[in-house]
Parts: sequence; C-alpha cells; structure tokens
Amino acid sequence: MVFGSGIARSGLLGEVDAFGADGILLISADTEAALARELCAPFADRVAVTFTGVRPHVPVEVAERAREVASGADLVLSVGGGSTTGTAKAVALTTGLPIVAVPTTYAGSEVTPVWGLTEGSRKTTGTDPRVLPRTVVYDPDLTLTLPAALSAASGLNAMAHCVEAFWAPRRNPVSSAVAEDGIRHLSAGLLAVAADPADRDARAELLLGAYLAGSAFAGAGSGLHHKICHVLGGAFDLPHAQTHAIVLPHVLAFNAPGAPAAASRIASALGRPDPVGGLREFGEKLGVPAGLRELGLRESGLDDVLDDILAIVPADNPRPVTSAGLRTLLRAAWGGTDPATGAP
Ligand code: NAD
Repeated sequence: MVFGSGIARSGLLGEVDAFGADGILLISADTEAALARELCAPFADRVAVTFTGVRPHVPVEVAERAREVASGADLVLSVGGGSTTGTAKAVALTTGLPIVAVPTTYAGSEVTPVWGLTEGSRKTTGTDPRVLPRTVVYDPDLTLTLPAALSAASGLNAMAHCVEAFWAPRRNPVSSAVAEDGIRHLSAGLLAVAADPADRDARAELLLGAYLAGSAFAGAGSGLHHKICHVLGGAFDLPHAQTHAIVLPHVLAFNAPGAPAAASRIASALGRPDPVGGLREFGEKLGVPAGLRELGLRESGLDDVLDDILAIVPADNPRPVTSAGLRTLLRAAWGGTDPATGAP
C-alpha cells in the first residue's frame, strides 16, 4: 500500500518494477485513458495492451473481452474507479494475474477480495483471494478531477461500507474499529471537499477514509444494505454510488433499534446525536438525490426485486427482515421520505 500526493507520478514505475512486469495489460475507462497513459509514460514500452471498454457493474461480455486481450500479459494495471478495478478483478479471477490498482474514486474495491459480474440484469458477487490487488497506489491528486457530486456520492458509498461493517456477517472488534475511524475521516473529508473540491488535504482525508472503508468491508463482509444496493443496481442499472448514498439512512433506521451500540458508535464518529438524521443531513448538504425515484427507478420495479433481496439477506441481520418490512424500507428509499418519521 503506498499513499501520498504525487506518488502515482513518481512511484508507479517502482511498483511495476517490483513485479518484473514487461507485458502489462492496462485497464482504464475512456474518461481516465489520458491520465492512465500519462502515468504509464515512464514504462510505456512495457504496456502490451490497453483495454478501455470498462462499463459499470462489469457486464460479463466486458469481462470476456478484457480476458481475451489479457493473453500474454504478466500484470494487470488498473487506473480508475470501482468499475475499472472490477474489470481488472474479472481478469485476475480467471487468469490469476496480479493486479496493481491505482484508484481514482472512493469506491474501495482495491482492498477487497470481492468480485462482481453482471449478466443481463443480475449481478453476481463472490470472494476470491486472486482478485485482491497486490499493490495499491493511493494518490489523492488523482481524485481532484472527480466532480463534486460524484465525490459526494462516492464518499457516501465508502460511508456505507463503514456503517454496514457494524452488523455485516464477519464483523469483529477490528473491523468495527476500522469502520469507526473510516467514518471520522470520511465525515471530515466529505464536507471539506464539498466546500472546496481543490482542497488536497480534504481529498487525502477522503481517500484515507475510502481505504479504511474498503478494509472494514473486506473484513466484515456485506449485509442488508449491500444486498439491497447490489440487487437494485444489477436489475435497474442504477448509478452505484448514488444508490448507496440514498439507501444507507433507510437501512440504518431499520437496523438501529436492533443494534443500539453500533448506532451510538456511528453517531459519535459522525459527530451527530442521531446517526440517521446525521446521514440524511450529510446527503442533503452534499446534494444527494432524496429518493431512488430521482434516479429514474419506477415504483413498480420495487416489488420485482423483493424476493431476490430476501434470498440473500444475512440471517443474523440485527432485525429480522420480512417481506413487508423490506417493502416499507424500499418504498421509503424510493420516495425519499424521512426514515425516522416517514415524512417527505
Ligand atoms: P465508476 O468506476 O463507475 O466511476 C464513476 C464515474 O467516474 C465514471 O464515469 C468514471 O469514468 C468517472 N471517474 C473515475 N475517476 C474519476 C476522476 N478521478 N475524475 C473524474 N472522473 C472520474 O464508479 P465507482 O463508484 O468508483 O465504482 C462503482 C463500482 O465499483 C460498482 O460496480 C461497485 O459494485 C464496485 N465496487 C466494488 C467493491 C468491491 O469490493 N468489489 C467495492 C466498492 C465498489
């Protein structure tokens, strides 16, 4: 793990050298392709092939195309957000190639062994140590171009990893401590970046928070919140980060009565007396859409995914998740009502 302002430009060559790589598969989305080329300029002759066909939620066709061009490569270098890291993971899953990840958002996928692939409207995830990047180069400067709205949504996606780590199936004192610290760094970074997106210190706070969030998620696993977002994202092609940002206060409101100690630690890390209100306040200040309907989701779609979500909710969720309870939660998240009172 390397971390520092400017480190991607000054240190990437050394990290690639550590693998003795001379046939690199470079993966980036079109939007980050120029940045990726610039970062690879010191070792351009060792980039054997560049793949820019990244798509959200890693459709299987995209994974297959990336795997085809990987033949002969000895290292995968990903430069981009969670979708790009996810594409690199899809390649590593079947080829065993090592990944060097250079994240440019706050998704946190680079520190988890979790992969995700989408076939049609169904997203499948799994865990495999082969997909965990061997090296991560964290350079807050690369996130300076992330627009304010995307920074907020991506930072709140990281917040979701932290909050959920308190009740996810493999939670333990370490993942909870990491999550709590992550919430503190993310809270500080989110508001500061919203005030000034060019604030490098605030960008570093957010990226550190994203690392802690990814680490907490990797340790604790995914619970009710991630199960809901992953089914909704796969079924309706919703923007990942915004979906997380909208749904999170509703899941926290649902689970808090069954996990009072977690709720109190989350509140203290947020620096707010009420964790649900605190998260909602963050969302409002950061311009997150109030409800899933603002992402273009039809209300009738909610019933179509109820059973898919119920089938994968962890059995030890702090409160039992019934079909009726889940429907109420989803409708509130869709309409953007206040999770505590049901008021608009
Ligand atoms: P993303 O990678 O799709 O990026 C969102 C947009 O931001 C894209 O248009 C991208 O081109 C642009 N972008 C990226 N970096 C930028 C920068 N520095 N400046 C300007 N624009 C930039 O979205 P994401 O939120 O980073 O990742 C979401 C994906 O990651 C989802 O598929 C999610 O399931 C996955 N994810 C996986 C894990 C895991 O552990 N496996 C964890 C978190 C997220």
